[in-house]
Amino acid sequence: MKGRTKRILTKSLIVSGIAVLATYAISLSVRAALNMPFDWLAWIECLVIPVAIAMPVASYIFGQSERISESCEALARSEAQLQAANAALAHRAAHDGMTGLLNREAFGAQLTASMRSGEQSAILLLDADHFKQINDRFGHASGDRALIAIAKTLKQSIGPDDIIGRLGGEEFGIVLKGLNSSVAAEQAAERLRYQVECHASVLAGLGPGGITVSIGGATTLEYRSDSAAVLHNADRCLYEAKRRGRNNVAFTYSKGAVA
Ligand code: GH3
Ligand code: MG
Ligand code: MG
Repeated sequence: MKGRTKRILTKSLIVSGIAVLATYAISLSVRAALNMPFDWLAWIECLVIPVAIAMPVASYIFGQSERISESCEALARSEAQLQAANAALAHRAAHDGMTGLLNREAFGAQLTASMRSGEQSAILLLDADHFKQINDRFGHASGDRALIAIAKTLKQSIGPDDIIGRLGGEEFGIVLKGLNSSVAAEQAAERLRYQVECHASVLAGLGPGGITVSIGGATTLEYRSDSAAVLHNADRCLYEAKRRGRNNVAFTYSKGAVA
């Protein structure tokens, strides 16, 4: 017998038993008060009638109650699955599938939120140098591994509160929170450039110097909450870093440099 049926039957039998006892008690006291005999028919009536009424009614009620609890459990399971699916979907919508970093939209949104909250920070735009050549020489799969190695190295080299995203192709963005002096920001950018040149290259199996990045940077100090303007400035500096020969950091740009 299934556990569910067994439970319903047991509870219904208990209820029927109580009904039989109650009926006997009432019938005995009424008959005693009226001086009536408690004959064999009374014994049978007190047993059959309550069982005939209580057993089907109790079975029906306990059956319904089992169904309701089963439905509640199924609903709770569906809700948990839905919440997990929603969380996975939200994560997928905000992250780059290959590197696991924030995508361009999510990076932009977090940068804007950070600037609106009044946090001072340095913005870095990083672009892998001559990446097309890496693909051409070693194959697209090696290129993918190199991008993953860059992402991993950069992520490990920044603070837990800093923001990092893959803005598209072989371009990354970083927000270094709390850094509002160009000198300190430039030193931090230089460290990241070095990490990619030495560690990401080795991680990707290309040997030291196998991958390099150019970095353009700007601090948010003079931009209030205009994230587009600070990104534009960093982009012009990135162009300047490329112009200077790549594997370079620039926080200023010459007039001729156009992003
Ligand atoms: P530069 O130093 O001027 O930036 O040169 P570059 O070759 O890096 O720049 P370019 O814009 O000419 O080429 C970018 C290359 O990056 C071309 C494209 O195939 C490659 N790329 C973009 N996204 C991916 C990717 O997800 N995987 C791989 N393997 N390659 C990618
Ligand atoms: Mg490039
Ligand atoms: Mg590029």
